[in-house]
Amino acid sequence: MFDSLSDKLDNALHVLKGHGQITEVNVAETLKEVRRALVDADVNYKIAKEFTNTVKEKALGQNVLTALKPGQMMVKLVKDELTELMGGDAEGINLSGNPSIILMSGLQGSGKTTFSGKLANYLKTKKSKKPLLVACDVYRPAAINQLHVVGEQIDVEVFSDEGNQDPVAISKAAIAHAKANGHNVVIIDTAGRLAIDETMMTEIANIHKAIEPQETLFVVDSMTGQDAVNTAKTFNERLNFDGVILTKLDGDTRGGAAISIKSVVNKPIKFIGTGEKMDAIDVFYPSRMADRILG
Ligand code: GDP
Repeated sequence: MFDSLSDKLDNALHVLKGHGQITEVNVAETLKEVRRALVDADVNYKIAKEFTNTVKEKALGQNVLTALKPGQMMVKLVKDELTELMGGDAEGINLSGNPSIILMSGLQGSGKTTFSGKLANYLKTKKSKKPLLVACDVYRPAAINQLHVVGEQIDVEVFSDEGNQDPVAISKAAIAHAKANGHNVVIIDTAGRLAIDETMMTEIANIHKAIEPQETLFVVDSMTGQDAVNTAKTFNERLNFDGVILTKLDGDTRGGAAISIKSVVNKPIKFIGTGEKMDAIDVFYPSRMADRILG
């Protein structure tokens, strides 16, 4: 019936106003609308509930009840809180190493390989870097091929060693190659599985330990919604990653996974992927994301 959450909340609170005093109970009712909107946007239910509890405290403290447009005030409160929740230290990528080593992690299909290419292209064109892409998936020759195709598209060299079954050795050889050839950034694309799997986690943890990257990024498909929370948690426990990449935001997802992941692992979301092409990469802006989630 109403388009935006703002309209819904304004209406709910005005109706309540007409029926006598607005109370804490009424505010709780309207916050149910907020919770519903968040869950519709794929925010994990428990996290949505915690969030609305925080907003409730603030709403009661800020005289939302006597405001002229209580719905709008509530929406502003919700938006500000969401922005703060998703914000934090998105200071970009740590490029202090020589070469700077960036390790990509995430499930198969999350968009790791595509994002590795996008990041290489971004660093090359926007930061004047000379990146080297490294294919470290020792199980799927097709994945190695895919990275070569990506590398050709953006004119960035790809290091691979087909037949070598040891991703730690490949990574080390790639870093030596980078040093010898003047590459100042090394982006390592690792093998993923369709679901969390002990072999995969051990493998990437071993690579991480051996090469000590300046930056470990966790790539997650924003369409996976609720599942994203568990995946992020497991990868973070093993890798203590530095930042999150949220892909496929060009789809029809509202992107609530951003809130869930940030709440659970408390790491900054650094970039978003907005398409299959190599230039479909954007820095993450919390307030834009809050607008999108609220609809
Ligand atoms: P990987 O298995 O994690 O390396 O994932 P891929 O990079 O191969 O991506 C899986 C699929 O998702 C491919 O078909 C990509 O073209 C697609 N993809 C990756 N990132 C995006 C994105 O931001 N938007 C869209 N629409 N598709 C994407």
